[in-house]
Amino acid sequence: MDDASIEDCIFCSIVGGSSEGDIVFDGGDTLWFRDVSPKAPVHVLGIPKQHIVSLAGVKGDDHALLGKLLHEAASVAAEMGLAADGYRVLTNVGANAGQEVQHLHMHLLGGEPLGPMRC
Ligand code: AMP
Repeated sequence: MDDASIEDCIFCSIVGGSSEGDIVFDGGDTLWFRDVSPKAPVHVLGIPKQHIVSLAGVKGDDHALLGKLLHEAASVAAEMGLAADGYRVLTNVGANAGQEVQHLHMHLLGGEPLGPMRC
């Protein structure tokens, strides 16, 4: 990933502190913050702090980080009161999925019956 893409990345700027994020959990090498345009009563995004474009850009060394993000999704969901009724975790990859932000992120959605996919 070239420096220009990282400089232009809104999620990198939240990690760096130059953009505001409504942070709900800091995992050290991961960050969880509220989606600015929530699609459900609870809509949180989980990212690796390092700039990885999407699931398609994950390398062998990043496997542990991915596992950590999924594990954190469950604990953040529990922390936000979603465990009993359930929730959805998803990630968009590329154009056909409608990925808008080119920095790997997990959507965590809950707080009501979710029906079809929203993100
Ligand atoms: P995706 O379509 O999977 O790339 O989703 C990107 C998500 O990032 C969307 O749900 C946006 O509402 C959200 N988003 C964009 N900018 C910000 C921001 N500055 N802070 C929090 N969420 C954001």
